[in-house]
Amino acid sequence: MGSYRIPLVDLRAQYLSIKEEIDEAVARVVEHTAFVLGEEAEGFEVEFGQYCGVKRCVACANGTDALELALESLGVGAGDEVITVAHTFIATAEAISSLGAKPVFVDIRPDTLLMDAAKVEGAITEKTKAIVPVHLYGQMCDMDAILAVAKKHGLRVVEDAAQAHGATWRGRRAGTWGDAASYSFYPGKNLGAFGDAGAVATNNVEAANWMARARNHGRLTKYEHEFPGRNSRMDGIQAAVLRVKLRHLDEWNRARSAVAMAYREALQSAMPEAQVVGEVVEGSAVHHLFVVSVQDREAGLARLRAQGIEAGVHYPVALHQQPAYRALGLQLGALPVTELAAARVLSLPIYPELNEGLCGEVVSVLAGR
Ligand SMILES: *Cc1c(COP(=O)(O)O)cnc(C)c1O
Repeated sequence: MGSYRIPLVDLRAQYLSIKEEIDEAVARVVEHTAFVLGEEAEGFEVEFGQYCGVKRCVACANGTDALELALESLGVGAGDEVITVAHTFIATAEAISSLGAKPVFVDIRPDTLLMDAAKVEGAITEKTKAIVPVHLYGQMCDMDAILAVAKKHGLRVVEDAAQAHGATWRGRRAGTWGDAASYSFYPGKNLGAFGDAGAVATNNVEAANWMARARNHGRLTKYEHEFPGRNSRMDGIQAAVLRVKLRHLDEWNRARSAVAMAYREALQSAMPEAQVVGEVVEGSAVHHLFVVSVQDREAGLARLRAQGIEAGVHYPVALHQQPAYRALGLQLGALPVTELAAARVLSLPIYPELNEGLCGEVVSVLAGR
């Protein structure tokens, strides 16, 4: 990261903008030696639960665990099938396969690159237990259409909201639509900790109570373990950092929107052939990533790199093409929209502290003009 003039994300700039608040919060945890769960984690659960608009939030060690815990709490297990997308980070599918369940991939929409709700029903079998829509790049999937199919077939819905802190679908956030939503607070996410952290947001109190025990060795009381759980607890320092950052999240998301708007305008005039990921009208996006599809990605990446501009690719290999999931037997051509996206998407630098004035320059470098 350090060698780029314009990095993909700039976590240091964000830290410096709130240094005093963060340093004070971290010092408080160290002073109290409340290193695992404890008061800060409980405080964060209340505050993030309120932010999402749900009854309960359960903090855990990372976003992958959050998704796995949520699915398990709803009864997903060995032999079940879970419908999701292959155009996502591998963690989405890992959480499913870790439970002994099978990820079943459906294609995405060409405009938004989000789950194509119209493809879900055709993927349902008698083994299907749940659907995991992924709110990729910071905007929410069509929750009305997905919930309608889920309801018709009696399926659970767990939203993967690792990239969508604060995003809404018709005014409501992830976790209020499905049975639960999993969030990741990996440092580079819109709400990022200083290490790994995650949480589940849900209105299902029973599931939340189960997850709160499952993440902490199935513990009921100090020496009483109701069932064999696991260790997926949130650190006190992460919780304290997240509580500080949560107070800034909306303002940061607004700054991201301004950057995204500047990119859109620059692309429209300088590079009309680039396809920008479409914005969903029923939702409001939080622009975790700014993604464009281009014909010759390698050339674009090389031009950016040569000018000290860091770009990313989210994601170059669809999950059904990964060695990890080849055993599912999906051939090349099985998910045409997904495969085309994997070949063409490119992520431009975006973070709240990025000067919008630089967007025009990034776009002209990408365009090679
Ligand atoms: C980051 C991410 C995850 C996993 O979160 P971790 O905290 O890294 O375990 C899951 N799904 C998506 C879409 C992500 O972007």
